[in-house]
Amino acid sequence: MQQALKQNEKLAHMGQLSAGIAHELNNPLGVLIMYSNILLDECSTDDPNRQDLELIATQAERCKKIVGGLLNFARKNQVRFDEVDLEKLVDDSLNSVVIPASIAARVVNKAENSKALLDYDQMMQVLTNLNKNAIEAMPQGGTLEIVIEDTPEVVIFRIKDSGMGIERENVEKLFTPFFTTKALGKGTGLGLATSYGIVKMHKGKIEVKSNADKEKGPTGTTFSVILPRKP
Ligand code: ADP
Ligand code: MG
Repeated sequence: MQQALKQNEKLAHMGQLSAGIAHELNNPLGVLIMYSNILLDECSTDDPNRQDLELIATQAERCKKIVGGLLNFARKNQVRFDEVDLEKLVDDSLNSVVIPASIAARVVNKAENSKALLDYDQMMQVLTNLNKNAIEAMPQGGTLEIVIEDTPEVVIFRIKDSGMGIERENVEKLFTPFFTTKALGKGTGLGLATSYGIVKMHKGKIEVKSNADKEKGPTGTTFSVILPRKP
């Protein structure tokens, strides 16, 4: 199945709402983390309250991560276009994720013109999110391949994994904030929503091709990020 994912106006409103909430939560959470750590420092290892305190500290950290994800998602930074070397960008994005030994990762550069105008930091975030998802889709190991392609009009990054694939009914929900199929505490469901926003600001699109049905052929997923050469 191949689907050009359509623009979702709800995202903009959800973005504003989440930014407001995240911003308000950020400071009190920082205080919670700081004081629970101070208390932990003063707490001996055999203190009966220690486990409860540790729970408070780790759960507050988890909230902080979610809030960070929300702020990222809602951030409406201007796109700063720079001439970027596509292969370097892809290499950097692979270096910023932990790749388990069971996964073979490689970059295939098929681009005629390997330079393009884009926002390095923002596209780094997109590719990092896609790499992470690909890796998380292959808990048993597999292959992660990033192909760089171009035409006179567009540059394309294809992030291909040999992982579990995406159920057909989930494909249209992928870019909705907080949609996740990962275990509680593992996923925030903000990676693709954030990436979608960034790619949209580049006037590009993200396409997904996947199959989760082993009967109907091999599984695995390809996310393609397609960006105009002249923004
Ligand atoms: P999160 O990774 O926190 O769950 P994302 O927005 O990054 O949130 O992804 C949303 C969901 O999309 C994931 O929970 C997963 O179900 C699905 N998904 C994304 N990428 C892949 C992939 N490469 N293979 C299989 N499923 C994927
Ligand atoms: Mg993710």
